[in-house]
Amino acid sequence: MIRELTCIVCPRGCQLKAELDGNGNVLNVEGFTCPRGKQYAIDECTHPMRTITSTVRAANGEPVPVKTNRTVPKELMFDCMKQINQATVAVPAHIGDVVIANILGTGADVVVTANLE
Ligand code: SF4
Repeated sequence: MIRELTCIVCPRGCQLKAELDGNGNVLNVEGFTCPRGKQYAIDECTHPMRTITSTVRAANGEPVPVKTNRTVPKELMFDCMKQINQATVAVPAHIGDVVIANILGTGADVVVTANLE
């Protein structure tokens, strides 16, 4: 089976083809321009991962943009969003401030991505 994917690791968006066996193992990947694309195709076919971007409320009520500082398993995105939606940050908030450390044991921290004074 051939699975066609668009690499989302960088804006170039290479078109990838992953060849899978009957057990879902990746046999071959074509179409990548760099090694990150090959790894993306393997991960996407075997254990898809995503970076989460969202907002949390600051103590003054303003929304503050946040994201995970590394990817998390795609199947945990909904549960991660539940935690993120309940989080708040103190003011001032600065880029890189950790809002939730090691969310759901994924190893990823949810961090602030804009300054709020
Ligand atoms: S394969 Fe490499 S160059 Fe192509 S989109 Fe993915 S990361 Fe970018």
